[in-house]
Amino acid sequence: MSCQRGNVKRTRPQKYKNKTAFKNDLHDTSSKIKQVNNIEIVNVCVKCKTILEWKIKYKKYKLLKAPKKCTKCEQKTVKNAYHMMCIPCAEMQKVCPKCGKVEEIVKKNEFDQGKMDTQLQKLIRDLPERKRRTFFRYISQNEKTSGKEARNTEDTKEEMMEKFKSLNLEPEEEEYTSGDESDNMSEHSY
Ligand SMILES: [Zn+2]
Ligand SMILES: [Zn+2]
Repeated sequence: MSCQRGNVKRTRPQKYKNKTAFKNDLHDTSSKIKQVNNIEIVNVCVKCKTILEWKIKYKKYKLLKAPKKCTKCEQKTVKNAYHMMCIPCAEMQKVCPKCGKVEEIVKKNEFDQGKMDTQLQKLIRDLPERKRRTFFRYISQNEKTSGKEARNTEDTKEEMMEKFKSLNLEPEEEEYTSGDESDNMSEHSY
């Protein structure tokens, strides 16, 4: 099969073709290019997503050195390059934070699900041992009650994130084993 993108109807081959696909990190192995390549373009409209992904691919994407002023709340809250307003403002106005137009916004979960997993994994890794155990206990309980893969994995992930947040905020509490059972023994009457 051909790997033509976009124009699916064309049958003749492209006249001029690069032998290899353009690779933005072919001659540039800096950490900056890696950082830029790792950016996941979300929370913008489809058009802006395409534009920003193009910028990344062809090395036109410049990271912000410092947060920019949001055009709505006028705070220095814009952390994404090329955005005109911060995400909370855009969400409130129901517009794209980049172009400011009322468009359907591409949300994170629709696309790269794998990233969510790695994010979660990283969070789990950073947990203190005891909380990690609690978290895994929660997951295995969850799997038992939900019955294999019947459930929407997206929901489960969200639940995990929720659980995760609650674990992180929880004040440290002592975990102790109760001695209740041995107490029963002393009730023996003579
Ligand atoms: Zn704002
Ligand atoms: Zn847009």
